[in-house]
Amino acid sequence: MKYLCPTCDREVAVGSHCPRCIKKKPRRKAARKSWEQEPSADGLDLPDEDFDYDDFVAREFGHAPHRKIGITWYWYAVALLLLALMLIGLFI
Ligand SMILES: [Zn+2]
Repeated sequence: MKYLCPTCDREVAVGSHCPRCIKKKPRRKAARKSWEQEPSADGLDLPDEDFDYDDFVAREFGHAPHRKIGITWYWYAVALLLLALMLIGLFI
């Protein structure tokens, strides 16, 4: 069986390192799996573990993170009315 080396797209036998890439890398790094990335490639700029979401939102948007979404009473009345109309429609 063969697979395509993720680094150089060359066909390599399963269970062995890519002969082309293993030459390019220093010995210690070549011992790693070829699909593993260098720690220096972790430049995703993701927030830390202790990222404070509420603080972030407060800074970004300048107000409290969560505003209460209130549904006024007449929408409940509309919902009940529609439900009643549908039930009536079923039995006519
Ligand atoms: Zn390769």
